[in-house]
Amino acid sequence: MDLVNIKKVAELIRKAKYAIAFTGAGISVESGIPAFRGEDGLWNAHHPIYLEIDFFLKKPLQSWIKIKELFYDKLGDTLPNTAHEVLAKMEERSFIESVITQNIDNLHQKAGSKNVYELHGNYKKLICTDCSSEYDISFTDLNYLPPTCYVCKGILKPDIVFFNESIPKYAINKSYEEISKTDLMLIIGTHAEILPAAELPVLAKKNGAKIIEVNIKKSHLTNSVTDVFLEGTASEILEKIGEFLYL
Ligand code: ZN
Repeated sequence: MDLVNIKKVAELIRKAKYAIAFTGAGISVESGIPAFRGEDGLWNAHHPIYLEIDFFLKKPLQSWIKIKELFYDKLGDTLPNTAHEVLAKMEERSFIESVITQNIDNLHQKAGSKNVYELHGNYKKLICTDCSSEYDISFTDLNYLPPTCYVCKGILKPDIVFFNESIPKYAINKSYEEISKTDLMLIIGTHAEILPAAELPVLAKKNGAKIIEVNIKKSHLTNSVTDVFLEGTASEILEKIGEFLYL
């Protein structure tokens, strides 16, 4: 492990005025989140038809059966790992301001992070396709598919970004806002290859932010925008950063 650079990164974080984290699938691998969605989440998967918004709206039952199997039967019991926990502590101690994530697994919140901007939504929330009422997953019984709205009986859809669906405005606007303020971006477990995620590190860099990258192997970011590359799993690297910050 590159302790010299890890220590240097901890110092940079300590000195930064507005550090933020940007995470992808790699941070949740050690929580046992299966890589069924490809390297960087929904946008990078193999476009399964049941995650196409048009297919979902036409055949919600068929789509839901698959979605339940892939997401809901698996994600409910997963726990945050050391990397999520260190980020939550860093926010609590004001070393970072927020987390922008491409993950839908709710693990940042489970670990205690407060300012989380989710580019691809969150599986725990369901939204009515007719009247836009929102529900927490705990209020629905997925033994009866497709789940329906208590208000209007419309079909409920997971509040995650399907293929051919746009990124939630709130999340993307907040992300750009964070990017415009940040002077240090800690990128963890993502290659940020798909827009708009791909654009965020580039914009931060243009604004003069230091870019720290934590990945198990080099990415296209490493030789373009990254200032310090830390090779390793999210939890082993974050654990060390946490130690250097006396968390
Ligand atoms: Zn409704």
